[in-house]
Amino acid sequence: MTNPLYDTLFGKHAGSARTFLYLPDGGEVSYDAFLTRAARFANVLTSLGAQPGDRVAVQVAKSPDALALYAACVRAGLVFLPLNTAYTPGEVSYFVENSEARVFVCDPARTDDLRPVAKAAGATLETLGANGDGTLAEKADAAGEEFETVARTAGDLAAFLYTSGTTGRSKGAMLTQDNLLSNAEVLVDTWRFTADDVLLHALPIFHTHGLFVATNVILATGGALIFLPKLDVDRLIEFMPKATSLMGVPTFYTRLLDDARFTRELTEHMRLFTSGSAPLLAETHKVFEARTDHRILERYGMTETNMSTSNPYDGERRAGTVGFPLPGVELKITDPTTGETLPRGEIGVIEVRGRNVFKGYWRMPEKTREELREDGFFITGDLAQIDADGYVTIVGRNKDLIISGGYNVYPKEVELVLDAQPGVLESAVVGVPHPDFGESPVGVLVAEPGAEIDLAAVEAAMGRELARYKQPKSLVVIDELPRNTMGKVQKAALRERFAKTFG
Ligand code: ATP
Ligand code: MG
Repeated sequence: MTNPLYDTLFGKHAGSARTFLYLPDGGEVSYDAFLTRAARFANVLTSLGAQPGDRVAVQVAKSPDALALYAACVRAGLVFLPLNTAYTPGEVSYFVENSEARVFVCDPARTDDLRPVAKAAGATLETLGANGDGTLAEKADAAGEEFETVARTAGDLAAFLYTSGTTGRSKGAMLTQDNLLSNAEVLVDTWRFTADDVLLHALPIFHTHGLFVATNVILATGGALIFLPKLDVDRLIEFMPKATSLMGVPTFYTRLLDDARFTRELTEHMRLFTSGSAPLLAETHKVFEARTDHRILERYGMTETNMSTSNPYDGERRAGTVGFPLPGVELKITDPTTGETLPRGEIGVIEVRGRNVFKGYWRMPEKTREELREDGFFITGDLAQIDADGYVTIVGRNKDLIISGGYNVYPKEVELVLDAQPGVLESAVVGVPHPDFGESPVGVLVAEPGAEIDLAAVEAAMGRELARYKQPKSLVVIDELPRNTMGKVQKAALRERFAKTFG
C-alpha cells in the first residue's frame, strides 16, 4: 500500500457508483463523485504550495465539500486540522498560529474577520462555503481530476484534532494514519457495520465523534451517510426511515424522547443507536428502551485515543456504563498519585494503550511527557471503576474531583442521588472554595418541565443517602446546564458562577 489510510478508507471506492452521501435536499453524492471532488481539492492544495506533512486548518460549515477536503488532505499527505465553527477569530488565531498551518480555509462570510488571522500566522487564506461556493471551491472546479496519491506510512500524521477545551485550553492531538485506521477497523467489527448500513449523521465534523467514528466506519465498509448539517429533531425523524443506524451525543436522545413522533414504529427497522462524548444518564437509557425496545450502545473515547471502550453488540448493554475495552486496547485503573494499578472495583484514573493512542500533543513536550507514559499508556484524566463483570463505569474527571475537608467526593455519586429525586431532570455537582473545608460541593439542579423541586426534600434525601462530607452544602436550581456542542456539561463555567457561594 502506498498510503494506508487513503487506500483503505477512500481509494478502494474509486469508480464506485454507490451512494456515499444522502443530502437533506434529496441530492446524492456517489463515492466516485466524492473522490473526484477530493482529487480536485488535492490538486488545489498542492498548487498552493502545501507539502506533505503541512497542516491545513479548516473552519467551515459541515458540507460534502468539507468532507472531501478531509479526503484530499489524506490523499496529499497533508495534516487535516478541523476547527469548531463556534470559535471566534481570537480563538481561531491561536489554533492557526499554534499549528503553523500552511493553508487556512474559512467560511466565505468570515473572510474579513479572518484575513488578519491568516496573515499574522503566515498561512494562505482560502474560503469554502456550504453550497459549493468560496475561493477553494472555485479553484477546485477548474482543477484536474487526476491526482497521484502521496505515499505515506502508518506512522505518519493524518490529522491534528484539538481537544474540546472542557478542562482548560484545547490541546492539539497528533493522530497518525494508524491511530485512525486501527480504530475504524475495530469499530466496524465490534458494531457490525457493513456496506448495507446507512448512518444518520447529524454530528459536527470538526470533532472525533462525527469526523472519525461516524465517517470512517462508513468509509471502511462502503455504506452511506445521511448527511445532515446539524442536530435537528425534525430532520432526524424525517430521515430515520431511510437509516439503519444513528450515532449521537446524549442530547440527541433526550431531544428525540421529548418528541411524540419518536415512536417504536419509527425505530423498528433500526439496527443500532450509539451514544458517547458525554455521559448518557442511565435514566435516558431506560426511557429509550421502554419507548423503542432498543438499548442504546454507549461507548467511551476521546480526541487523544479515538474510541477505547464499548458496550457489547450482542451481550448486555449496561446502562450507566461504557462497557469493555475494545479489542486491541489495554485499559487499567491506576492511583492518580502513584500510578499503581488498583484492585478491581476501586476508583482511579483510566489509562489506555494501543494502536488507537495518539502520538503526543503538538508542541507541548512537557504535557505529552506528563500524560503519555514511556511504556505507551496514556493517562486519560477520567476517573472510573471496573465492576466484577468487567464493565467500566466513568465517575467523572480527575479535574472535577472535589476534595472537601480532606475527603474525596466523586461528583457522579452525588449527581446520581440528586437525579433520582422527584422533579429533578438532571444535576451537576461542582467543588467551590470553602473557608473551612478547602472545597465544598455545590449541587446545581435542573427541574423537569413544569415541575417544582422541593429543596428541603432533596436535602433530606441527601442526609439519608450520602455521608455528610459528600452532601452539597448549597443546592441551587437553574434553567439548564451549560453545555458545548458535543453535549458536555461545562463544569468550569459552573465553578466560576458559584465560586462565591461560601464567601
Ligand atoms: P479537554 O481535554 O480539552 O479538557 P475534552 O476532554 O472534553 O476537552 P474530548 O476529547 O472531546 O475533549 O472529550 C473526551 C472526554 O469526553 C473524555 O475524556 C470523557 O471525559 C468524555 N466522554 C466521552 N465519552 C464519554 C462517555 N460515554 N461517558 C462519559 N464521558 C465521556
Ligand atoms: Mg480531554
